[in-house]
Amino acid sequence: MKKKVLIIGSGLGGLSTALRLSVKGYDVTILEKHSKAGGRLNQLQIDGFTFDVGPSFMSMSYELNELFESCGVKNPIKMTELDPLYNVYFEGNDKPYKIWKTLENLEKEFAEIEPNLAAKVEKYLKRGGEFFHDTEDAVIKSNFNSLISYLFQLSKVPKKHLPYLFRTMWNEVERNFDSNEVRVIFSLVAFFLGSTPFQTPAIYSLLNYTEMKHDGYWKVEGGMYKIVDELLKLLSAQKVKIVYNTEIVGFEKSNNFISSLIDQNGKKWTADIFISNSDAASFRGKILKREKFSEEKLDKMEWTLAPFTIYLGVKGSIDNLAHHNYFLGKNFRGYADAIFTSSISPQKPYYYVNVSSKSYKECAPDGCENIFILCPVPDLRFKKDWSDREELANNIIDDLSKRTGFDIKNNVLVKKIFDPEDWGKMFNLYKGSGLGLSHGMLQVGAFRPKNKDEQFKNLFYVGASTTPGTGLPMVIISSKLVEERIEEVYGNLS
Ligand SMILES: Cc1cc2nc3c(=O)[nH]c(=O)nc-3n(C[C@H](O)[C@H](O)[C@H](O)COP(=O)(O)OP(=O)(O)OC[C@H]3O[C@@H](n4cnc5c(N)ncnc54)[C@H](O)[C@@H]3O)c2cc1C
Repeated sequence: MKKKVLIIGSGLGGLSTALRLSVKGYDVTILEKHSKAGGRLNQLQIDGFTFDVGPSFMSMSYELNELFESCGVKNPIKMTELDPLYNVYFEGNDKPYKIWKTLENLEKEFAEIEPNLAAKVEKYLKRGGEFFHDTEDAVIKSNFNSLISYLFQLSKVPKKHLPYLFRTMWNEVERNFDSNEVRVIFSLVAFFLGSTPFQTPAIYSLLNYTEMKHDGYWKVEGGMYKIVDELLKLLSAQKVKIVYNTEIVGFEKSNNFISSLIDQNGKKWTADIFISNSDAASFRGKILKREKFSEEKLDKMEWTLAPFTIYLGVKGSIDNLAHHNYFLGKNFRGYADAIFTSSISPQKPYYYVNVSSKSYKECAPDGCENIFILCPVPDLRFKKDWSDREELANNIIDDLSKRTGFDIKNNVLVKKIFDPEDWGKMFNLYKGSGLGLSHGMLQVGAFRPKNKDEQFKNLFYVGASTTPGTGLPMVIISSKLVEERIEEVYGNLS
């Protein structure tokens, strides 16, 4: 008799785990509160425009290959490596900087403000690369059974990396680069971790290495949601069932085992094994009612910034936009210091703009562009009221019109806004935090919510807020780690 598995949530973590386990002979069902699969990796289709809802870059693309290959399939998704990676606009300068992965081109791009950039970048990335390779297999891709085993594993990481724990990313870019522009650009990755470069330890410059030297960034043909489409095809072939519009709100237990999950209509769902792809910290608090994860305790943890996103279908072609663009202001330090805890909307917002129709015409009707704008904002702990959302959206659209020289406002055919409250409600993201728990030293490795429950022997976790962390490749790794946990207990059934 096949072991029955119930997965709560069809985010990339849930889908990847379902694929791995179904191939191994488990009978898998996914329960999803939303009406469509993918979680944050979702899609909007409105009047001929197709938008990716959240993620727009794939990094560490080999993890996606590994997922498919471990299930006996060649990766069916067509990806193209980006070079330049993206364009960066600084306020007051109409010409964007192209951030080339090819260092020769990057050096030319910054010749006027940062001479000898290629050599400086090589030196800067060398150490980030060493740290990445010293920890990738030993720490990031490993399960730990105790704090001691985690600390033991960490103790094997060469001691030369220690000083970078006590220096901030900003200190590090200041030591390596002279111009403010290059310093700002190289420190932007700190925001992906849920912090600022003025607080993030310099060891995380390993992310600069992964984006600029190692595997880089990739675009996905037809849009990021192709990843979900392809996974759904394989899951259907494996007879994995997905039940939509079904939110798990409670559970029943028998000794130290979960016996059933209860949905919003009171229906009970039974299985042998349960896996939560719902946020690993807030699920323990909200559903399991664990004191350690009460709202008060969760509020004290460090969470990544909330997204404020705008989806615009626009008539015309905006020549000054590339597929990936960042629009930055002048006051980086002040902005970074205030952005996490502000109770008001940013007045001079920094934002990212993605136009996938620049690469893939099928994402917008003829003669139109699909514009996705992402502005990181404080989560609902700090700014609860988003009744000013139209004002903030108009502020950003006006700024973008000015900086691109294209009247966006009067050419909008389609417009949709998601504020942090929407994001929170759509996917049960804690207080609207976009990437889940952040990655300070006390929230990674053995300190992050574990992928195996503390009490219930048949309950496991996968996704951004458990190990190893957030982002698409990390979540794929998380599915491998949870598969290993389950096999330790139940074995390989194939
Ligand atoms: C705006 C934005 C941009 C991003 N950009 C990038 C990027 O460019 N590159 C990158 O690598 N990463 C990016 N990320 C991060 C990436 O999207 C996430 O790390 C990843 O998608 C998380 O996947 P997950 O499976 O952990 O969770 P989720 O995608 O959140 O999936 C969890 C699923 O569980 C469902 N669920 C939750 N609770 C319940 C319940 N009680 N009952 C039933 N169902 C439930 C939710 O509806 C959801 O479908 C971005 C994130 C955001 C928000």
